[in-house]
Amino acid sequence: MSDNLDNNSRFKCPACGEALVWRAKACAACKETAPIYNHPAFWYGLAVFGVISLGLILWVLAT
Ligand SMILES: [Zn+2]
Repeated sequence: MSDNLDNNSRFKCPACGEALVWRAKACAACKETAPIYNHPAFWYGLAVFGVISLGLILWVLAT
């Protein structure tokens, strides 16, 4: 497993278009606060939320 990808930028700064460093809380170029989706915690939360939602839908369908 390579962790190299995590050090690369995945999104661009919405304010100046500079590539955001993955996990960075702010843009390195303009110091604008980085979007929440630039942090893995957002995606973990989204995944957990998705699984819970799916579980609820299946539960509702099954009852
Ligand atoms: Zn910026």
